Amino acid sequence: MLARENSNDFNSQISLFAKKISKCHFLCLTLKVKLPEVVFSLKTWPLGNRQKGEKKMQFKDIYGQEAVKQRLIKSVQENHMPHAQLFCGPQGAQKLALALAYAQYANCTNRTGDDSCGECPSCKKMATLMHPDLHFAFPIAKQDSKPSVCADYLKEWREMVTHHYPFTQEQWLDQIGAGNKQGMIYANESDEIIRALSSKSFEAAYKMMIIWLPETLNITCANKLLKEIEEPQGPTLFLLVSNSPDNVLGTIVSRTQRIEIPALDDESVYRFLKDRNPVATDEQIREVMKVAKGNLITAEGLLTGEADSQIYFDLFVKVMRAAYQRSSIKLMEWTKEVVDLGRKRQSLFLEYSQRMLRESFISNLKIPELNHMTDYETKFVAKFGPFINERNVAGLMDELEKAQRDIEQNVKDTMVFYDLALKITMFIKQ
Ligand SMILES: [Zn+2]
Repeated sequence: MLARENSNDFNSQISLFAKKISKCHFLCLTLKVKLPEVVFSLKTWPLGNRQKGEKKMQFKDIYGQEAVKQRLIKSVQENHMPHAQLFCGPQGAQKLALALAYAQYANCTNRTGDDSCGECPSCKKMATLMHPDLHFAFPIAKQDSKPSVCADYLKEWREMVTHHYPFTQEQWLDQIGAGNKQGMIYANESDEIIRALSSKSFEAAYKMMIIWLPETLNITCANKLLKEIEEPQGPTLFLLVSNSPDNVLGTIVSRTQRIEIPALDDESVYRFLKDRNPVATDEQIREVMKVAKGNLITAEGLLTGEADSQIYFDLFVKVMRAAYQRSSIKLMEWTKEVVDLGRKRQSLFLEYSQRMLRESFISNLKIPELNHMTDYETKFVAKFGPFINERNVAGLMDELEKAQRDIEQNVKDTMVFYDLALKITMFIKQ
């Protein structure tokens, strides 16, 4: 009953407020209708139009990264393969693909000077990730506290890698229905890994253990693997693929040789996008390349419009945090990032921010049916909502609208966004 009265109160406040800024009200209504669609497209992103048929994982299928390929090929040819290697570098640079191409090359029975043959029995099994000497560990999320190991998700993993590569950890977890849970390589995985590697290799020269995102290794699991990584039994290659090596246990890192993989060069990003999205125009591609900064996943998501919401969300969170901390350095950095978006996306971002403000304001009512957000937005708004209240919401909305108008009328964007950042700082603590 109380909640209902509250709700009426709140609704009348909202409609007053909406009358004042009618455009926003209109936006709320449209978004209410449109949102399920948006959520749907985000949720199904990995299986949506990113599906481009089966991928092969040979060196020739990897865009750019020539120096890394040469280094890997040379190490096989000179039979100088460190038994534990850490492929590290930014997201979307094809680290996992390089590790797989390397594993395939090392076990190919008919390799050439620059690639595996793709035809021998070993290559064929590697291509489907079904080689009996190829093992994987990757983050998963426990369901209902049942013990889980990667083997339970092998089918999904093979499908994801062979059909939906490249992908982020979040996309992978979404794919296995882990939703908002944090991904981890659990403690019991170490027994699985040790067991897999203790048997003699079935047919390959090397047993391969690929650990995707070793930064998600549970500490017990990581510790149990130290001896194995230091002195594997028989010819074994540990290939660790990390987005953030600084978060990998130091004792693991010190036992590996680092293979630094840089962000992809512009030319390769361009070719990747053009090959997978032949209808995209040069201008569209150049525009997303500026924002993606060498990250293939971001670039493709932007080009197909799917990653925009995530980027707008990140920018919204960033400016609100910087404003709360009153950090002029962070506000300047934020301004620079928004300026890189280009005018069309700047305007969409400002529209998105108005929706997030409305959602945050309404969330204070604690009636979930009134909110329409994705999982990650809901999580953020649960904490952020109370900062948006009747004292500041109208002022903030006015500023966002004004900024949007200025952007649409070609006012200098650096000025518009820095000014907006300062205004948000003034309002956020009210
Ligand atoms: Zn081969």
